[in-house]
Amino acid sequence: MAQLYFEYGAMGSGKSIEILKVAHNYESQGKRVLLLTPLIDDRFGQGMVASRIGLKRPAQAISEQTDLYAMIENGQGEKPAAVLIDEAQFLTPTQVDQLALVVDDLAIPVMAFGLKQDAFNTLFAGSKRLLEVADKLEEMKTICSFCGKKATTQLRFADGQPQYTGAQVQIGGDEAYLPTCRYHWHHPILTMIPQ
Ligand SMILES: [Zn+2]
Repeated sequence: MAQLYFEYGAMGSGKSIEILKVAHNYESQGKRVLLLTPLIDDRFGQGMVASRIGLKRPAQAISEQTDLYAMIENGQGEKPAAVLIDEAQFLTPTQVDQLALVVDDLAIPVMAFGLKQDAFNTLFAGSKRLLEVADKLEEMKTICSFCGKKATTQLRFADGQPQYTGAQVQIGGDEAYLPTCRYHWHHPILTMIPQ
């Protein structure tokens, strides 16, 4: 039975490297995967799955208007063995429901990788829907930048200062993020923030 997976974690938990690993594993068995990424920032003109340790590969970019079920059902060539989605927090709830239909009606496994919540500890819309409908949930873990406990969120910084207000998604700004535990989200150690 195909299933809908949601692998979630804070920034820096290795989601992109995991998606590249899963794609490689399928392809080393001669199976084709469909690699998708929501394009919220189209300055670069194409989709890319890029990990922090330097590995990257192109991915098919999708917009909020893309009907994922229609796209996969009507795709060229043979059906993919699996659909892998990076930055799945940026999917719309409707697109998550379309992915559930891909699993149930087309019998293609779908693995979505993304952040659970934003820098203000609020669920992303795509992640909320994935938590509601996915068959399998898996937390990918990383450690707090300040204490080494498990990171459950990420703190946004700009000019060395923590940011507790602002847009959920900022494009092209100078902000940076650090994975943190809940305590250090409230109480970051300012001298440890990279300038
Ligand atoms: Zn901490």
